Amino acid sequence: MNEADSRHLSSQVEALGYVPTVNANEADLVVLNTCVVRQSAEDRAIGRLSTMMKIKERRPNMTVALMGCMVGMREAPALKKKFPFVDVFMPPSVTTPLLEYLEQGGLFDESILLETRAKAVRDAIQDEDYILPAVERGRSVTAHVPVVLGCSHACTFCVIPYRRGAEESRPKADVLREVRALSEQGVKEVTLLGQIIDRYGLDLDDDYDLSSLLRDVAQVAGIARVRFLTSHPNWITDRLIDTVAEVDKICPQFEVPAQAGNNEVLENMRRGYTIEEYRRVVDRIRKCIPDAAIHTDIIVGFCGETDEQFMDTYRLFEECRFDKAHIAKYSVRPKTIATRQMRDDVSSDEKERRRKMLDDLQSAMLTDKMKGLRETTVEVLVEDRDVKKNRWRGRTPHNKLVFFEDDRDLRGKILPVHVDWTGPYSLIGRAMDAVHLRGPAKVSEE
Ligand code: SAH
Repeated sequence: MNEADSRHLSSQVEALGYVPTVNANEADLVVLNTCVVRQSAEDRAIGRLSTMMKIKERRPNMTVALMGCMVGMREAPALKKKFPFVDVFMPPSVTTPLLEYLEQGGLFDESILLETRAKAVRDAIQDEDYILPAVERGRSVTAHVPVVLGCSHACTFCVIPYRRGAEESRPKADVLREVRALSEQGVKEVTLLGQIIDRYGLDLDDDYDLSSLLRDVAQVAGIARVRFLTSHPNWITDRLIDTVAEVDKICPQFEVPAQAGNNEVLENMRRGYTIEEYRRVVDRIRKCIPDAAIHTDIIVGFCGETDEQFMDTYRLFEECRFDKAHIAKYSVRPKTIATRQMRDDVSSDEKERRRKMLDDLQSAMLTDKMKGLRETTVEVLVEDRDVKKNRWRGRTPHNKLVFFEDDRDLRGKILPVHVDWTGPYSLIGRAMDAVHLRGPAKVSEE
């Protein structure tokens, strides 16, 4: 979501005449877009802020703006006291405060912060020419599109609802307009985003839901692939799974965080499902789409998690054979229910031990699973060139990372790649049509 917000904002400030630089020391404007989902992310943001403070001391005329979850819906006044050198504060997805500040020549109006997000996002993309910053136009192959803003679920560990505000679906017309604009600027794959994306549309008037939206997005001219995340086990419908099975352009990938494999822990997290229900969701997906890639998120060391309870998570992991897992050590977040009512009583060494156990299991399982792709041909959408290693980088519909060498400009192309090597997290291969093309091309030259 922050990536999408940053792109919009970059293109909007470009429209005001700014050009990008890679060096913060020579920038007239620096925007820090922040994540605070874990303490480590917040620490990083604070580290960057102190760097910016030093630069601003030397160059007082530069503008420093702070955006995203650190600012949230109501942290701006406290942050202004703590970081007085910051000129502008913006909640997630709301870019108007900075634009107005720059247009007015440096006056920050806090009342702009109170606008509804959906309107602010709409304003942000009203001029479709500015959907991507200039350097990315015709170059970025993939893009994220937030479709459900905020979250109203209130898992006990999670700070997101406090920082991104209540759940709100963006109107379908806005989403489609954004996707069309992205496509016109060269994007081939879009990933629709929401904290609980399966709830898309429940707050809109008609019965237009995520399945309808995915179908419409898949029909936008030039869009070759569509992904979506994150799903919550309680809200994944059979209709959604069927839609993914039926529509070729929708990638067979589901992001369904389990968070834990033990019912007591899940209840303490207030996730709203049991592990039996979670397993049934995985079964439903695999029954309909046997080779679907299923990704998950896990938190280890949540308040009160015993070793035995953690071992339930370990077993869930073994059993579900996830295609990818984000494994996080529980991190205390301000104002959450867990922080107010529970004790962070698993030591950091123990959290690390549990994290590493799952990580090792994941590597071993994926090493094995990926071997099944050796000597097969996979379909790759080419995203970018790894300049240092002189090879192309792309992904399969199942979101496996693929590298291959090829001299042609293949950015944005979809092509078959023969897999020669597999590792737990990536594949290396050869572009199949390249093998064909090179042969005859040489023959005709001679
Ligand atoms: N909406 C998603 C979660 C988004 S946050 C969902 O419903 O699951 C992304 C991930 O960060 C979460 O899945 C969780 O695994 C992790 N996370 C969130 N809060 C955390 C915390 N306090 N400590 C550690 N990890 C956390």
